[in-house]
Amino acid sequence: MKRVLVANRGEIALRIIRACRKLGLQSVAVYSDADENAAHIWAADKAVRIGPPAAAKSYLDTRIILEVAKATGCDALHPGYGFLSERAAFAAECAAEGIIFVGPSAEAISLMGDKAEARRSAMKCGVPVVPGSDEAFSDAEVAVKAAPGIGFPILLKAKAGGGGRGMRIAPDMASFRAAFVQATSEAEAAFGDGGIYLERFIGRVRHIEVQVFGDHAGRVVHLLERDCSVQRRHQKLVEEGPSPVLDEGVRQAICAAAVKLASSINYVGAGTVEFIFDVESRDFYFIEMNTRIQVEHPVTEMLTGTDLVAEQLLVAAGEKLSFPEAPFKANGHAIELRINAEDPARGFMPSPGVFTQWRVPEMPGVRFDSHVYRGYEMPPYYDSLLGKLIVHAPDRVQCIARALDALDCFKVAGVATTIPFLRKLLTTPDFIGSAIHTRWVETEFNHAA
Ligand code: ADP
Ligand code: ADP
Ligand code: MG
Repeated sequence: MKRVLVANRGEIALRIIRACRKLGLQSVAVYSDADENAAHIWAADKAVRIGPPAAAKSYLDTRIILEVAKATGCDALHPGYGFLSERAAFAAECAAEGIIFVGPSAEAISLMGDKAEARRSAMKCGVPVVPGSDEAFSDAEVAVKAAPGIGFPILLKAKAGGGGRGMRIAPDMASFRAAFVQATSEAEAAFGDGGIYLERFIGRVRHIEVQVFGDHAGRVVHLLERDCSVQRRHQKLVEEGPSPVLDEGVRQAICAAAVKLASSINYVGAGTVEFIFDVESRDFYFIEMNTRIQVEHPVTEMLTGTDLVAEQLLVAAGEKLSFPEAPFKANGHAIELRINAEDPARGFMPSPGVFTQWRVPEMPGVRFDSHVYRGYEMPPYYDSLLGKLIVHAPDRVQCIARALDALDCFKVAGVATTIPFLRKLLTTPDFIGSAIHTRWVETEFNHAA
């Protein structure tokens, strides 16, 4: 492997380019017209324009991206997260063109990409799943018949879903049909696949996920868990590790379950097995597997002293995992805060615009992964993540204190951000005491007060 096409934008494009540099690999960036002034263009060894702002005509255009990869002599392609990262057909196309897709096989992507199918894979190897439907439905009448057998409240989920989209809660039978119609049309629009499967909606849960990694020699390991229970609309806002609500017994069981599932599908590369965890009963249930690098991977890097993106490239090039034989033990505590260009005072409305002021924290134990600079104009076409603040400290109390110090160092003007929201969150007793659940931000936390 010599030259890598970085098929993404924003902070993750920079992150991948950094890993390439470290390994002595060349990188080729791609950019849309909306990203003409993006930092990943200068960071890469070469950059190629691929089309207009609309993602469908640039970052999602597989034909153009493969053409660029071939024309620039790339022998590998890293998809990052989002965009093409979980498209099985694209992974297969890369392979057919002799370009190494930095990720698992097309088979593994498609198996886990169909979330109803992924549930079946989990059940087959004895990993607990939420009570739910064995298949996905496209017909409301058929789904209506299946619903009573699952029990309300029911969560309707897009089988092709991701990014928290295409999900609806139906509290009872009376609301089920309308919820189905909405969910299926939303899923059709967002993913081009209206298939909906059903799960019992479990209230007051934590989101716990396990980082797994496999290599071509058949070794599969876990790198402990992340707790991503601070969410809004099923999207993560804050991630931390180790989870403050897991005891060692459950930790080992949940990590073993993740490895069992990944091994059962001969998983190669970085992946994340997601669970929900009921704090009262201490039961955990598999919800999905993401077959790519995750936004919150730096939490794990801090705790384990690894470089997950470099490891992805090495494994893709055919090397064995560089991790020690002994299981990982978490070093201290890490918290990641996703900072978005959104206005919390206006219902988290996206706030594109020019960063007229920009100062970021620089202190020990603090890492900031971002593509923003002073004068940068945040385009309105893509997601609103402007950076990830990752804080590492010997324990959770010190980590929260350090995160607050770091937040206070930001000086940002021109664009509204979620920094005030995050500062309030970190000082709230429920967060400090780990008494929160995945719906806490929406139902209990008053960020304006
Ligand atoms: P993570 O668990 O890594 O945070 P998310 O589910 O939040 O993953 O998704 C990460 C990024 O990928 C977000 O920008 C999200 O909008 C995008 N994304 C996730 N799934 C899809 C999908 N199926 N199609 C398009 N974009 C997606
Ligand atoms: P996505 O592919 O969009 O990430 P997930 O299946 O991972 O979808 O679910 C997103 C979030 O929704 C989870 O992190 C969790 O907070 C919540 N969730 C998912 N399934 C359930 C469930 N059965 N009961 C309660 N909450 C759930
Ligand atoms: Mg998920």
